[in-house]
Amino acid sequence: MKRLTREEKFMRVAMKAANRGLKQGEVPIGAVVVFEDKVVSSGYNRRAKLQLASAHAEMMAIDRACKKFGSWRLPEGCELYVTLEPCPMCMGASLNARVDKIYFGAYEQKGRSLTSELAEANLLNHKTEVTGGVLEEECSALLTSFFVSMRQKQKEEKERRKLETENFSSNEI
Ligand SMILES: [Zn+2]
Repeated sequence: MKRLTREEKFMRVAMKAANRGLKQGEVPIGAVVVFEDKVVSSGYNRRAKLQLASAHAEMMAIDRACKKFGSWRLPEGCELYVTLEPCPMCMGASLNARVDKIYFGAYEQKGRSLTSELAEANLLNHKTEVTGGVLEEECSALLTSFFVSMRQKQKEEKERRKLETENFSSNEI
């Protein structure tokens, strides 16, 4: 078996977090903050459970890291690993917390994330280095299988409802 690189190793930890979300019926996206080669915090998407638009994996991981360090400004050298290309909100949070490097797995399909633009924009006098495609296949497979099974469930539900209606109308006759 191919040995994992350092980046891949941390991405696997982010995938584990994503799987925790998956078990709770969330879109499986996970993130971890790493400092000095150690995982400081992790988070996973909890948007459905919390019904909060801001409950993204990166926000959870960054907030937890800030709490751990007791500072909104993370120490120099903090890295964020996330299974899916970050959205603009999470890029903004990363810049606010002064994350130095971001590694993501799957690319956002629609290509509307503005990831590199925001990383380079020097907003807040801080730039962050972004590397995409770390364990890309595994990270996108995680998302794809979630959406396939969700669509399957929706289809089954629709058929079940259709059957119920049919039974109901035949009873009427
Ligand atoms: Zn986000």
